[in-house]
Amino acid sequence: MNDQAAHRADVRIDLAAIRHNVGTLSDRARRSGARTMAVLKSDGYGHGASAVASAALRSGAEWLGVASIAEALQLRADGVEAPVLCWLYLREDDIAAAVSAGVDLSVSSSRELNAVVEAVGAVGGPARIHLKIDTGLHRNGALPEDWGRLVEEAAKAEADGSVEVFAVWSHLACADEPGHPSIDMQAQRFRLAHQQAVDAGLRPLRHLANSAALLTRPDLHFDMVRPGIALYGLDPVPQAGAHDLRPAMTFRSTVVLTKRIQAGEAVSYGHVWVAPAETNLALVPVGYADGVPRSLSGRMSVWLRGKRRPVVGKVCMDQLVVCCDDDEVEEGDEVVLFGPGDDGEPTVAEWAREVGTIHYEIVTGMYRPRVSRTL
Ligand code: PLP
Repeated sequence: MNDQAAHRADVRIDLAAIRHNVGTLSDRARRSGARTMAVLKSDGYGHGASAVASAALRSGAEWLGVASIAEALQLRADGVEAPVLCWLYLREDDIAAAVSAGVDLSVSSSRELNAVVEAVGAVGGPARIHLKIDTGLHRNGALPEDWGRLVEEAAKAEADGSVEVFAVWSHLACADEPGHPSIDMQAQRFRLAHQQAVDAGLRPLRHLANSAALLTRPDLHFDMVRPGIALYGLDPVPQAGAHDLRPAMTFRSTVVLTKRIQAGEAVSYGHVWVAPAETNLALVPVGYADGVPRSLSGRMSVWLRGKRRPVVGKVCMDQLVVCCDDDEVEEGDEVVLFGPGDDGEPTVAEWAREVGTIHYEIVTGMYRPRVSRTL
């Protein structure tokens, strides 16, 4: 990232907060006898996958989870040697590269199993696989009616030394709604699928729980849990109690220009905000191209010189304007767009609520070419 970008906007990652969160979460898992897989897809939910990986591995996580083979190979290229599970790859992806890098692969179908066996034929093996059962989310995973066949084929591939079936796993649809009937329904299907694998002579571990299930359903921790969002200090089930999580991301910029306008003058595109009195304005060089949703126009504030101040007028592509009343605000002053909230600054959760989305979307959307990242 060049210096110019660093002056525009900066996402600061508090790795101590991530270490704290992983410690808290993996302690919970350990109490149920489960290990922890830190989920790092989408560049560590926008926090920087390799930095989060080393923080997580030092604080109680033993495994890492990513969506794509490219993400897994990047971790290996960055020197991460811990077990990595990759669960979403394409026909065209370099499965052989993943196998030779010692990346564990999820397998949902005979076709995927055959692709892994073929890769092992090319680069040697065995490959470690996690068989995925579709218990009701209906994304990937084998449907229960196809499961018996997949398990038998996997048992054969294990017997001939091509693969090691390390785990049976699945993913919950509604874990962030504690008490939702689908949770127990999925868990029941999951237990049955695991039993079928055992009956076929396999000895797989089990993993099912994401952050929400880790926090609210210790009975579903099984042998490993897979928290993502909670590692970053964002609570998927805040209504279920205090979970001692610390948000790790702070989004900052600086004031680049100040001016005073007369009463009756309007600000930004569309002139939707009109100054009711003589007003000091501060220009901040971030906009919707840098991750500030335009839909927050008229509904957001920033933390500047020890208080919240409203953003007035429309959020533009590269800039927004803050109303500072009569206060003296100077060029170069730090502006916090969101942070942990400890001092009163806006939080990711507030942004998500205002925009009508989930905090996952806000933080994963912060990885942008013009925004630098400070670890
Ligand atoms: N496991 C899988 C398969 C996922 O796709 C994800 C993320 O969506 C997670 C675990 C982590 O979920 P969360 O971020 O809700 O903890």
